[in-house]
Formats: sequence, C-alpha cells, structure tokens
Amino acid sequence: MITVNENFLKLQAGYLFPEINRRAAAFAKAHPEASIIKMGIGDVTEPLTPAVVEAMHRAVGEMGKRDTLRGYGPEQGYAFLREAVVEHCYRNRGVSIEPDEVFISDGSKCDTGNLQEVFGLDNVVAVTDPVYPVYVDTNVMAGRTGPWDKAKGQYAGIVYMPCTAENGFVPDLPDRPVDLVYLCYPNNPTGAVATAEQLKKWVDYARENKAIILYDAAYEAFITDPDIPHSIYEVDGARDVAIEFRSFSKTAGFTGVRCAYTIVPRGLKAWRKDSSSVEIHPIWSRRHCTKFNGASYISQVGAAAVYTEQGKKQIQEVIDLYMDNAAVMCEALGKLGYAVYGGRNAPYVWIKTREGIGSWEFFDLLLQRAHVVCTPGAGFGAAGEGYVRFSAFNLPNKVKEAMERIAKL
Ligand code: PLP
Repeated sequence: MITVNENFLKLQAGYLFPEINRRAAAFAKAHPEASIIKMGIGDVTEPLTPAVVEAMHRAVGEMGKRDTLRGYGPEQGYAFLREAVVEHCYRNRGVSIEPDEVFISDGSKCDTGNLQEVFGLDNVVAVTDPVYPVYVDTNVMAGRTGPWDKAKGQYAGIVYMPCTAENGFVPDLPDRPVDLVYLCYPNNPTGAVATAEQLKKWVDYARENKAIILYDAAYEAFITDPDIPHSIYEVDGARDVAIEFRSFSKTAGFTGVRCAYTIVPRGLKAWRKDSSSVEIHPIWSRRHCTKFNGASYISQVGAAAVYTEQGKKQIQEVIDLYMDNAAVMCEALGKLGYAVYGGRNAPYVWIKTREGIGSWEFFDLLLQRAHVVCTPGAGFGAAGEGYVRFSAFNLPNKVKEAMERIAKL
C-alpha cells in the first residue's frame, strides 16, 4: 500500500496568494464595472530591458544552428555568468567570492526551498515573523516541524522571531539555541533592511553556536542607502556561516525568464553526530548535479547582459521607476496618518492598519471600497497581523490612482 508523506498534510491550505486572488476574482465577478488595481503580488510590470532582450535573441539564434547549439550545460551554471556575478556583485564591494562558489539556478524560490535538505532533520529552524512562506513550508514538507498550532498561527518546533516596529523588523537573537536561521534583507514583506552591525550580531551568533544563516538577498538591488550592506559577506566572518541567495527576478524583471544564484562558500561547515565537520559546498554541488540540469543557456546569457554597461544602466532605470512608486506610496500613506515602514531600500511598503482592524479586514475594506488589492500581513505570519503590504511593482499611474482612491476612503 502506497502511503503519503504525511508532512505535506500538515501544510495549511489557502496559501496566501491564491486566497488573495480568490477574493479579488469574486469581487470582480460581482462588480464587473470596478477597475481593480493590484498592489498585492510582487510580480514585475516593466518589460525586460533592451540589453537583455538583444542578448537573449542572440542566444536563441545560436540555439537554432547545429554548430552553436548548446545542449546540457554545466549544472552549476556557465562560467561566463558565474564570473560576471563575482566581478559585478562581490569583488566590486571588496567581498572575496570565487566563481566556483556561485551556483546558478532557475530561481531563489527553489534555492531557498531546496537548500534545507542538505541539513539534518533534527536541526532547530528559526525564521522571522512575518516571513516569506517558502522557508517555513519547505521545512514542514521535510518533516522538521510538528503540527500547525491554530491558536498561535505557527508550526510546532519552529522558532519564530517576531519582527516589529520596536526592533526595526530585524529580529533579536533567539532565547534558545537554533541551528538554521533564515534572514531576508531587504525584507519581504516589511521592506526593512539590516545594518552591518545587526548582521554582525547574527554572524557572531552563528559562529558561536555552530549555526548556519540562510541569507536571502533577492532584493539587494533596491538598496539605495550607501551604508546598508548588499551582501552578508560584507560582514567579517560570514563566509564561514552564511549561504546567500540572489535572483534576477526583481533585479532585472526575470520572473518569467527564471535565473538566480546561490553562494555556498568553501569552508562553510556542518557537523556530523560524531562531532567531525563536513563542508557543505561539495554536498550542495552533488545535490545540484543529481537533481538539477542547469538553468537554460538563453536565461543565463540574458542574465549576463545585466552586467554590461548598457544592461546596468537600463536596469537601474527600471529599479528607479519602482522605487519612485515606493516613494509615492510612502508619502501618500504617511500623509493619511498611517505608520509606514519600508519603501526606501526595498520595493515593499508595510503599513499598520487602523487600530483594531485586522489584516484581512483591511484587505477586504480596500478591495470593496477602493478596488485596490494589497497583501494582508497576517498571511506572512502571526506578527504580521494588523499590517498590510503594498508592492511597488506597478505602473506609476496606477500607483498614483490607487493612492488617490485610498485617500478618498
Ligand atoms: N525570495 C524572496 C524573499 C522573494 O520575495 C521571492 C519572490 O517573490 C523569491 C525569493 C523568489 O525569487 P525567484 O523568482 O528567483 O524564485
């Protein structure tokens, strides 16, 4: 008799975005005349930039000829992209990363979701609350948690670290030992960033406690403040204890193209039961080779074009457009008296709803009365209750209109 992996049955139904879509679709059906502005899901709205499009056209041309066809590529990614990543994302900031420490993939969702499988099931996992749900759900699937506790809105066995306005949405060190820590800065959903001092505290914690930090920097390209680190490796000692994820999805509009990378430094270790240590780099490489056949050549050529002079300039213009949207939202919502967070170094604006109004209640209110879709903070964790997220990935005129509608409420 075939049995099911019961860990999957612990997962909570109604994943956030399907539920948002369901409510928005039901409203649209009941009110076909309403023009709904979607500021919920963080998908890009601007097209790929010309440098990327030209490079991908060239790559398609190569694939269409027998003598330049590329079949299976290296599982870890083509050298041209791994070298470009090192040159333009790390060496330029004085960070020492080697090309063979860069693993190209088809997305940070898969990478942040998959990486946990190289670690033992008995590790204690710590996540921020609110959190990007992928970190939690993949640990549930792996069997690293107990059941869902409905009253708490949390899974047993996971250490949730509240991120609040008081701690600037950067968690305090946990009050009990943890082994695998997920941090994401610039943060989705709160739009918060972590300073070098705050990251140093975590790196020191990981070094002292033989823990590993999984650092999701999917939004680093949106950092405008020169003092904010783009990489956790800008902090001394991080190479020994941190794995970093980055993606071309939001940086360069690749959500539909798919290309990302993960840095697994040589020398980063985990421990066996007999207390001897092992390097994670060869283990991740082995896992990658077994389960992944490489990101497409066309995607990787497109990604490499992001680092050309033209590519960098064009991508910056798109990022500036999104960040202008964020500034418009911060100003408008601030003027309305909301406590507004994020939106300065991140494409997300996080606001506190009016006193006593829950996230989903506020979501429904905005949908029904302003025809604007936001993301309820409670969908990202119990500590997100009472907040909602607005995404800056939108057309500037829609953002302005949405703000005007909310002002009229
Ligand atoms: N990490 C965070 C924090 C995200 O918000 C997202 C996408 O929304 C991802 C990773 C996924 O990125 P990708 O498109 O590369 O899978």
